[in-house]
Amino acid sequence: MTQPKPVLIVGAGPTGLTLACDLLRRGISFRIIDQSESATTVSKAIVIHARTLELLENMGIVEPFLENGLPVRGTNFYAGGKRIVHLNMDEIESHYKYALAIPQSKTEELLTNVLSASGVKVDRPFELVDFSQTADSVLATIKNLETGAEEKLEYSYLAGCDGAHSRTRKTLGFSFEGAEYEELFGAADVACDIEGDEMSGYLSEHGNVIFFPFGDGRFRIIFELPHDNPRINGRPVDENVPITLELVEDVVKERVGRSIKIEDPHWLSWFKVHRRFADGYRKGRVFILGDAAHIHSPVGGVGMNTGMQDSINLGWKLALCLKGLSDDSLLDTYEEERKKVGQSVLKGTHMATKFVTFRHPVAVNLRNSLMHILSSQELVQQRILRSGSLTGVSYRSSSLSSECHPPIDDSLGRTLRLSDDDGEEKPGLGAWIEFARAPVAGDRALDGDCRNEKGEERRLCQYLSSERFQMLLFDGFVASPDGYQGFKRIEDHVNKYFKNLIDVHVIVPEANGVLDLPNYTSVIYDFDRILHKTYGASSECLYLIRPDGYIGFRSQPASLDELVKYLSGVFVLSAVGS
Ligand SMILES: Cc1cc2nc3c(=O)[nH]c(=O)nc-3n(C[C@H](O)[C@H](O)[C@H](O)COP(=O)(O)OP(=O)(O)OC[C@H]3O[C@@H](n4cnc5c(N)ncnc54)[C@H](O)[C@@H]3O)c2cc1C
Repeated sequence: MTQPKPVLIVGAGPTGLTLACDLLRRGISFRIIDQSESATTVSKAIVIHARTLELLENMGIVEPFLENGLPVRGTNFYAGGKRIVHLNMDEIESHYKYALAIPQSKTEELLTNVLSASGVKVDRPFELVDFSQTADSVLATIKNLETGAEEKLEYSYLAGCDGAHSRTRKTLGFSFEGAEYEELFGAADVACDIEGDEMSGYLSEHGNVIFFPFGDGRFRIIFELPHDNPRINGRPVDENVPITLELVEDVVKERVGRSIKIEDPHWLSWFKVHRRFADGYRKGRVFILGDAAHIHSPVGGVGMNTGMQDSINLGWKLALCLKGLSDDSLLDTYEEERKKVGQSVLKGTHMATKFVTFRHPVAVNLRNSLMHILSSQELVQQRILRSGSLTGVSYRSSSLSSECHPPIDDSLGRTLRLSDDDGEEKPGLGAWIEFARAPVAGDRALDGDCRNEKGEERRLCQYLSSERFQMLLFDGFVASPDGYQGFKRIEDHVNKYFKNLIDVHVIVPEANGVLDLPNYTSVIYDFDRILHKTYGASSECLYLIRPDGYIGFRSQPASLDELVKYLSGVFVLSAVGS
């Protein structure tokens, strides 16, 4: 087979670098270019959320981020001198029960280190000038901005990670509808004489101010300048005049209600905020990702995270297609899945921005009371944490999400958890309901504690390599030798026809040595039954997890036929050997 042409990644911001790291470990050849002479030195996006940390762990590169970031474990809002909201991030359903504060410049540096450790470097300063495409390739015109020389080169695919002003998007002819918010925002990265490592927002009738901690006494302060009355502490403010430390001190005094010592600025800047959305994410062999496809208000800090997750969604799909193992239709699911996520992030951040920038005194009072009441409700807290940490992102309606769960009638009247009257394990009513309430196809795979064969503590996610699909075969609470043989048949089939594409793990609700098991490749011991409960697996079932950590398929009981039917929609069966 001839080697496929490399992928061209345009833009070495967080989105392009994440895609490059993902393609690198999948053995896909690519070139990454950026028009800037050097990487950004400003902090811009300052938070990596729980879901992105999970995905970085899945890629095997989370450690340097954890070493360089500060876990922020709580959020507070104050109004009228009182705390009206306290959100404890301990309630996030993730191993990462916090938002990691880390400047965007550091995030980009750490991703670049992953590439350079394998000898890959970002080509700078090279600008994508133009491109055209055929059925087989993309012909890109790239300009060396140092010498002025232009080159035309062929690539297999082009990934436009080229930011809000994306040349890729414009050349594809996608629109970027939306609007600019009226408010002007100010950002200051400074040292502050305040304690604490939680985020604090102060809501006042003059406008709001937010302190986000970086550690070592440093904070990002964000505030807005009201468009209808651009004054701070009674003094008119000209947005054309750069922000000074004195101005930031005045903002704080006006909105917090007391003076705070602020010094050592690393970055002071005004910025306008837009909300815009591209009407397409893919045309032929060209994709747009990250800010090229969607930009939103920084409220919630999800912009960069959403871009990085676009890349993780596309990476494995590109790799399978380039290896000839999947066909082009798999790539359509990138737009199908990520466009919906982008739209919902845009809607959520827009509502939150409108909510926190109310100015009318009656609306402000109402808002503050509502925030106080709603945020103390456990259900509301969970919803806020799920959407804020992006752990609620799901592809339930995707054509790649499928499940096989016989109708509830089959389980009615069966009180036991299994029935072997026809030699097959079948769920009783309780087990049926537990499975129905567990994560469904399209949801992210949940983590949980378990043990290895030596009885040592592990987490499920430590078993799940993102280079391949991961299959979890849950034993259920009632051991049956027939069930074990059924699992062995599934494992043998997968190892024969999907070798190196799917890893199989059998999960048993006991410690090692209790059960007489066939010789499986990987057994996970769920002695405390945490995983069985998390996955609603009191009766035998199967989960197939995609390389990006989302459940693609599940069935109760484990069904080889249904599994193969699902896999025939993902892989070209003749290419994988089936
Ligand atoms: C003040 C501020 C605060 C923010 N805070 C947060 C936050 O807390 N959390 C969060 O998640 N997000 C935040 N964001 C948003 C975040 O910075 C962006 O979402 C993120 O940078 C998008 O990454 P990207 O890689 O998609 O695009 P970019 O970072 O814009 O990178 C695009 C890259 O493409 C290059 N490029 C462009 N055109 C070409 C071309 N023709 N040829 C070659 N190269 C090209 C550019 O040089 C650039 O390096 C903030 C943004 C701002 C401005």
